[in-house]
Amino acid sequence: MRHARDIYASCLKAAVRRLLDRPGGAILTSTADPPKTDTANVAALLLRQRDLCTDCIAAQLTLDLARVVAAVEALAKPLTVEQTVRRCAVCERPRWVLLL
Ligand SMILES: [Zn+2]
Repeated sequence: MRHARDIYASCLKAAVRRLLDRPGGAILTSTADPPKTDTANVAALLLRQRDLCTDCIAAQLTLDLARVVAAVEALAKPLTVEQTVRRCAVCERPRWVLLL
């Protein structure tokens, strides 16, 4: 039996793949449609490391906070993004942290 987290991860990978397969949707480009790229970048980061607060996500992706929040909102539509208060894995402050 598959763990729910594996199912989320495979759904997420499929979603990211769909985003990246779109023409002009490649990661780290400055072409049109930045919000979808932001979403893919945030998703990729949260898959690598859970329990990150939005400030640290913004810092690691060099995005402003509004774009991180918009990306998280976009991600949260097809997926479950858990939010909980605990120590951020990077800054170690007790914050609202996100995990997929
Ligand atoms: Zn943090």
